Formats: sequence, C-alpha cells, structure tokens
Amino acid sequence: MNILVSDKLSTRGVEVLEHAGFTVGFKTKLSKEELLKEIKDYEGIIVRSATKVTKEVIEAGGRLRIIGRAGTGLDNVDTDAATRRGIVVMNTPGGNTITTAEHTMAMVVAMSRKIPQATASMKAGKWEKSKFMGVELNNKTMGLVGLGQIGSHVTKLAQGHFMNVIGYDPYLAKDRAKQMGIEVVELEELFQRADVISVHTPLTNETRSLINTATIKTMKDGVMIVNCARGGIINEQDLYEALKSEKVFAAAFDVFEEEPIQADHPLLTLDNFVCTPHIGASTEEAQENVAIGIAEQFVDYFKRGVARGAVNVPSVPPEVLPQLQPYLVLAERMGLFQAQLLEGGVKSVTVEYFGEVAGLTVAPLTIAVLRGLLAPILEDVINFVNAPVVAKDRGIEVKEVKSSDAGDFTSLIRIKVETGQHNYVVAGTLFHRQDPRIVEINQYQVEVASEGQMILIDNVDRPGVIGTVGRILGEHSVNIAQMQCSRAEQGGQALLILGLDAPPPSEVLQAVKQEDGILSVRLVDLSKSH
Ligand code: NAD
Repeated sequence: MNILVSDKLSTRGVEVLEHAGFTVGFKTKLSKEELLKEIKDYEGIIVRSATKVTKEVIEAGGRLRIIGRAGTGLDNVDTDAATRRGIVVMNTPGGNTITTAEHTMAMVVAMSRKIPQATASMKAGKWEKSKFMGVELNNKTMGLVGLGQIGSHVTKLAQGHFMNVIGYDPYLAKDRAKQMGIEVVELEELFQRADVISVHTPLTNETRSLINTATIKTMKDGVMIVNCARGGIINEQDLYEALKSEKVFAAAFDVFEEEPIQADHPLLTLDNFVCTPHIGASTEEAQENVAIGIAEQFVDYFKRGVARGAVNVPSVPPEVLPQLQPYLVLAERMGLFQAQLLEGGVKSVTVEYFGEVAGLTVAPLTIAVLRGLLAPILEDVINFVNAPVVAKDRGIEVKEVKSSDAGDFTSLIRIKVETGQHNYVVAGTLFHRQDPRIVEINQYQVEVASEGQMILIDNVDRPGVIGTVGRILGEHSVNIAQMQCSRAEQGGQALLILGLDAPPPSEVLQAVKQEDGILSVRLVDLSKSH
C-alpha cells in the first residue's frame, strides 16, 4: 500500500506505517496542482490541518481508499464527497486533551503570577520586585464553562492547586459532573462566584461572545479569564475595555477571533494580557499520540479490515452496509433533530426498532443516533467508534429495544431521551425504503422530511394562532416552504411545524414567542451535518 503523508507528522507515525510494510511518500507543502497529480498513486492519505482534501482531490484519487486526519477537526476534508465514493475518513479524537488542559493551567499560573511580564522585564535588564505582585490560587474558585474532555482534566489540575471548581455545562448530566467533584451551577452564578473563568466549549451560536461587556459586569472585580478553546467565545473588544479598566485583573488567550492575530490588535498593547499563538495542543507527546494513533488505525484498516476511528462508516461487513445505509441516515438525522429539542443534560437514550429494521444489525444505527444527538454540542468529531464511549463517559445510559410489529409502518425507529427535567420522543421511518421521515414528535403524529430548517411552535389549539404566526413571518419576508399542524386533542395543545428555505433572523423567533397562545418556539436545522 502507498500512503501519502502530506502534512508535517511526527516521524513515529511514519515508522509505524513503514514497519507494517507500507510505502510512505512524505511530501508536505504540495500545491493544489501537485496534490491532484500525486494523489493518483496512493491508497491512503494522512493529513493534519493544512492539506485541503477537496472533492476535486478525492475524485482525482482513483486508488484512494482511506483519508486519515492526525488530530480531530475535519474542516479540511470533504467527508461527504469521500462517503459518496466509498472512501473511509478517520480521525484520532482525544489525542490532545491532556496537553491542552495543561496549557490552560499554565496560562492560569502565568497570569496570576505575571510570569511573562516579569520575564520580559528582567530580560530588559530590570529588577522590578514590587511591580509583579501576584494572586494566590489556593482556595480560589475556578469556574469552568464546558465540562467535556478538556474541562474535566482542567478540573483535576485546578483541584491539584487546591482550587474549588464550579462548572456549567447544560448538556452534561448533573450526576456526572458531581462525580468529578465539580459543583454544578447556572452560568449567571458561575460568573458571579468565580475568581478564574476558563471556557472549554466549541464555538457555537450559543457560545459566541458568551463573555461580553454585559456578562463581565456581573463578574467579581479582579476576575481572571482564560480562553484555550476557540476564538470568539470571549468578545475581544469587550475584554480589552475590561482589562484596561482593571475590572478584569488579567486574561490569557491561546485562540483568537482572527488567526494569526493582527500585529496592532488592541489586546496586544495591554500588560495584563498573556497570549500564545494557538499552541494549546503543541507538545511532542500530543503530536506523537495522534501520529502513532492514525498510523495504527491505517494498519488495522488495511491488514484487518477494521475501520477504527472512522467518521463515515460503521465497522460492519461490506455486504450488510447497503441495507443499513438509508437507516443510518434516518437514525443520525433523528438524533440531530432530537438534540435541538432537548433542554438539560441527557441521562438516558432508548432506541426502539420495530418491523423490518429490527431484523438488521442495529448497533451501528444506535451509534448513528448518538452521533446525531451529541455532534452539535461536542467539539470532536463523533465517530462510529468513540460515540458509545463518549456517551458512557458523559453518564448517558443507552438501551436498545426490538420488536417485529411496526404497526402501520414497514419499519419504525423511535428514540426516547430522558433528561433530568423531561422525556422526549421522536420516531421516524423510511418512505419508499429510502426517504427519511419523522412521523412522531412527543405526543404528536406528524410527517416531516428530515432535512432543511424548520421552526417548531408549541401553541394553544385555537383559531387565529396560525394566522398570527404567518403574519409575523410575512412581515419579516420569511417564506414558508411547508406547513403542518398536529394536535393531540381539540382545544388542547398543538404543534405547528414550518419548513423554511433559509434560517430566519432571531428577532422573528422572539416576535413569535411573545404572541398570545404561543408556548414555545424552536428552530431545528437539519441542513448541515454537524
Ligand atoms: P468536548 O467536546 O469534549 O467538550 C465540549 C463541552 O462543551 C461538552 O461537554 C459540551 O456539553 C459543552 N458545551 C457545549 N455547548 C455548551 C454551552 N453552550 N455551554 C456550556 N457548555 C457547553 O471538547 P474538548 O475536547 O473538551 O474541547 C474543548 C475546546 O477546546 C474546544 O473548543 C476545542 O476546539 C478546544 N481545543 C483547543 C485546543 C488548542 O490548541 N487551544 C486544542 C484542543 C481543543
């Protein structure tokens, strides 16, 4: 097998491949044209974040069977194009968790004791003992926003400094956080109580500008703020003002809204701002972990046919895959749909299979449900291998139930999700054996194509409500592509589903929410895979 390594990769990974008898072409910094030419000769390609494995590259790779990302993010790989050509895409999630958590703690210590500033001063020939008065961490409160892999490890490191850890993560079951020794609080309380705040979430619509002038106002005077997650979670302009006024004692960033950061960025002028150029994951150990990891996965795939870490295919015998494929799409879409309805951390997921589908190998379908359910809130790509482990780590109990009787359908999949507060149900089926449809949402019977964007409006079943919603959307020039109403009983509650051509502005949702007879308004986006 010929494997092209087109980005800088630890040589330990190359050694693993060569030891297994593969021929490795280690060719970095290829131009687009060179890559299009080179790729023809290889069965596999390993990249990090630099090489763009576009649809064009994939189509040019006539022999290509596998694309490996040493690391997690797959923004530079067109996974859909690979899937369509039956090419396996795999990654190595979790390889840099410890390294990034350590960097976070290093940032906390550096800014609390002004170590970078003191170093610069000494190197300038000065001895300014009184200028560098620091802050002790012992007994202080560390507030962590996001308690995933890195947040959990930072917890242990902060506890090692005898800090009290409080945390906020609406998608994690509270019991799970408590087991880690974290006091779970609401975001407002975290902002009010923490001496140090560190964010460890992905960048989503919800987390963008999570820390801004308004939220900083609610924090303690002299708070310290860290961002080793994603640029944009903390509003840089607002933070600049707060650092200047010393409301915020110090801040430390590894990631920025724009990278590389502009040399004249205002934050770089401040003495109480500590920064590193996105090196959170840059240690020898982390780079070796991911290089060896992806190389071993390639060996497993070519020698044993096991697709460990694959993000686009489950490890099932090739002859089973065609039958499963449409159900995999349905299951993942239903999980994604369910994820956008939920409030609170998931405690358990029960996937029920009825009719023909119950006779298939359903384990990959349950995993596809978990992928859909977890992908919008987790940073790492959830793949067919790590999904069950991630669910277990987050304290989610997963159950499967099978029955041959699907009632009016040939096959039906029903997902029941229990959070601390509510139970949620979504059921789906395949029309004409390949068209995924959602046919049940909680107590309502519906028939919704599982694609595009839609608004779900819980409302009181009485005249005029639908007209009001239509008027508001019309006033904001939002076109309704499809509409459906369902109710459990006359005069009770009803569900209105509006399919849209484009996502509506948020003020439209707010305006609808305020109307009489409207109980809740939720936007569900199934237009992109997360
Ligand atoms: P993870 O997916 O394991 O954890 C993310 C956590 O955020 C999850 O527990 C999720 O429930 C939670 N979350 C999602 N939305 C939230 C919200 N609105 N409020 C609170 N919590 C929310 O990811 P991870 O591996 O721990 O990574 C955390 C961050 O660190 C990511 O942004 C990742 O990109 C970043 N990262 C940076 C570097 C670096 O070089 N600086 C390296 C690795 C990871």
